[in-house]
Amino acid sequence: AKSRGRDKYVLYDSSMVTELAQRTNLEKRLREAYRNSEFILHYQPQIAAESGRIVGIEALIRWNSTSYGLIFPGEFITVAEEMGLINEIGKWVIESSFAFAQSLMDKGICVSCNVSSMQLKQSSFVEDVIEAFDRFGLRKGSVALEITESCLVESFGDTYAKLAELRAHGIMIYLDDFGTGYSSLNYMKNLPIDVLKIDKSFIDNITADGVEGRIVKTIVSLAREIGLKVIAEGVEAKEQQTYLTACGCNAIQGYLFSRPVPEAEIRDLI
Ligand code: C2E
Ligand code: CA
Ligand code: CA
Ligand code: CA
Repeated sequence: AKSRGRDKYVLYDSSMVTELAQRTNLEKRLREAYRNSEFILHYQPQIAAESGRIVGIEALIRWNSTSYGLIFPGEFITVAEEMGLINEIGKWVIESSFAFAQSLMDKGICVSCNVSSMQLKQSSFVEDVIEAFDRFGLRKGSVALEITESCLVESFGDTYAKLAELRAHGIMIYLDDFGTGYSSLNYMKNLPIDVLKIDKSFIDNITADGVEGRIVKTIVSLAREIGLKVIAEGVEAKEQQTYLTACGCNAIQGYLFSRPVPEAEIRDLI
């Protein structure tokens, strides 16, 4: 048995062992980071296409690590999901962004935060969100949850009821990264959502006569037809803004206006 164990071990090359060690290390560090409150939120404005006013703010998580510096979510969200820690982190994100929204009440700004499909699967999710919404004294349109299409594909019936209940309570639902998953506008019409966020990959290459430009134009007009608002994300150029505004896009988010910034800086922009 011993020698078989050794043979087995030989199957792993040294880089895989290192990777595993790093992975275990990352999990340990993430747990510590959560315990030591090393997560912070940065905020990025969403600008009304017509008026140029800030109508929304997206909260985006960062890990402000004492040992490694500022770490972006692409480096740790997937691992946090796989180790189940996303539920705790996600709860903190909701609490923090709701508290921020409370401080902006009556400014006509909706604060949105990202929600992992794992959080939505939790049986207490809806109850917890509604409890926080009420505790902070929020009103319809103060906050939104950004979910992705994978949430809808994975367990459609169950998710549908949960989203409908949240919406009925005044919590807005945004469909994030629209166009990258399986959504068709046909089933869209029955979804309990308020806003479509068109994925950056479409925005990157838009020109009025190119295919992405025509796709975006079609998405916006169909979305509006069924009563949804549209936010374009990843807008970096003035020409993109001009085109998106002409298409009837409601709001625009991207480096053109501001990168995600710390709370003190976003307060200066409001
Ligand atoms: P997302 O929700 O699609 O967020 C948009 C991402 O694009 C953000 O990256 C944002 O900083 C970036 N971005 C915004 N405008 C521009 C632009 O004009 N150009 C470019 N190149 N990028 C732009 P970030 O903050 O690194 O977040 C990456 C992803 O991590 C998010 O994508 C979201 O899926 C996830 N995420 C962020 N915060 C949370 C969170 O609190 N919980 C969960 N579950 N996921 C989160
Ligand atoms: Ca988002
Ligand atoms: Ca997105
Ligand atoms: Ca994305």
